[in-house]
Amino acid sequence: MKIKNNRRTKIVSTIGPNSESADMVSRLIKAGVDVFRLNFSHGNLDQHCRVAKLIRKHAAIEGRYVGVLADLQGPKIRIGDFVNGEVDLKIGDKFCLNLTEEEIEGTIRGVGVPYKDLSKQVNLNDIMLLDDGRIRLKVDEVQESEVDCTVIVGGKLSSRKGINRLGGGLAAAALTDKDVSDIECFNSIQPDFVAVSFVGSTDDIDRAKDLLKNIKINPSIIAKIERAEVVGDTDLLDSILEATSGVMVARGDLGVEVGDAQLIGIQKDIISRARRMNRVVITATQMMESMINNSFPTRAEVFDVANAVLDGTDAVMLSAETAVGKYPVEVVKAMSETAIGAEKHPVATTSRYRLNKRFDDAQETIAMSAIYAANHFDSVRGIACLTESGTTPLLMSRLSSGLPIFSLSEHASTLQRLALCRGVVPLYFESAAFEQDEIEIRALEFLRDEGLISKGDSIILTQGSLMGVTGSTNIIKILCVS
Ligand code: PGA
Ligand code: MN
Repeated sequence: MKIKNNRRTKIVSTIGPNSESADMVSRLIKAGVDVFRLNFSHGNLDQHCRVAKLIRKHAAIEGRYVGVLADLQGPKIRIGDFVNGEVDLKIGDKFCLNLTEEEIEGTIRGVGVPYKDLSKQVNLNDIMLLDDGRIRLKVDEVQESEVDCTVIVGGKLSSRKGINRLGGGLAAAALTDKDVSDIECFNSIQPDFVAVSFVGSTDDIDRAKDLLKNIKINPSIIAKIERAEVVGDTDLLDSILEATSGVMVARGDLGVEVGDAQLIGIQKDIISRARRMNRVVITATQMMESMINNSFPTRAEVFDVANAVLDGTDAVMLSAETAVGKYPVEVVKAMSETAIGAEKHPVATTSRYRLNKRFDDAQETIAMSAIYAANHFDSVRGIACLTESGTTPLLMSRLSSGLPIFSLSEHASTLQRLALCRGVVPLYFESAAFEQDEIEIRALEFLRDEGLISKGDSIILTQGSLMGVTGSTNIIKILCVS
């Protein structure tokens, strides 16, 4: 049996020093990871390549389709190094951000920031947030090559921490030179998803697409929503959603810029917009942060993950928890159990959404009808969806349901992408091996033999009358498993 439990919400796990071994990759897949994130803010290409191969190998051993997401570093602005690695800042201390080109070593009086335009983008009395907002500075004076500040929230600050401004607006172009050269090597990784960091407009997405086209690969693009300007402008946000396959609610940087209290509503809004527009959505960062050091999560973390599940996210993401934490396997299990718990609530299993909408085409009509029928007919145990591109199961999974969407395809790239879609179980099934009129019976036999459905169950099956043709889904049937 390929799925041990009935979890619908997907888990994205970031690979790092504590999870990059073959043994760990294998254990994480067994624990339930659906998509691995290769974080290009750290590590080098050789490492990421090696890990990508390990993921493919161990997914194949487990008979699972697991996605690979390459996450570009983007223009994150960071402070330079401190002479002694860190300083301890006290409220009221003067602290200078030095923008001169030459490398200066940081001290208690200030630190270098290798981003010359900072002085053009900050103003008197702005609040600068360092290390995800743990340290706060107020801007006293802006000169061409330095920004003088006063510490208003102190604490330990170590080398190379990120720097944001409260309210956002520190904008460098989303694709840096490093991102461009990383993309140029993606042939050796063959990612299913590419995440673009600090997206500011659809231009950033178009550039990424062009670069990927040049190397002749076509992964799904995920826009990381982590700028205050983007969430402050719904037209801009919608245009970014339109241009991509999905988004990440990148709460690390976004939360720092807008404040956590604002983030609660923003997360709900991004998730529902994404689903409405038939896009996937990942909710990310500090979901079970305490498990970096502890073998179990806090109740608050359990409820944070549950909240994202009830908001309708496709996936929840682990960052440092699996990359550098002490309990990578345990945190995946804890997240998985939490998601299953949250999914029991009726909010996660029923949907009135799109009931009064018109549909765009036959494919959407079939997809919506299938979910509606499945949710309303008690003996239905699941939906079997024969798919080429994965669009029909994606559409189905935009509606809440308690039933699995078994997505049968012979294309690994389709199945690996579907690994991110809530409620979708990607399964390899070679329709081309059968005559047209025996496909449906073979599909049911296959699901039964895999232990996914049993004799007597009803199943809703969808397919196109022209097998092998993308976008041709036009058949919906209710079948009984014999
Ligand atoms: P990061 O992105 O981990 O690459 O910063 C996610 C976030 O900002 O939440
Ligand atoms: Mn970020």
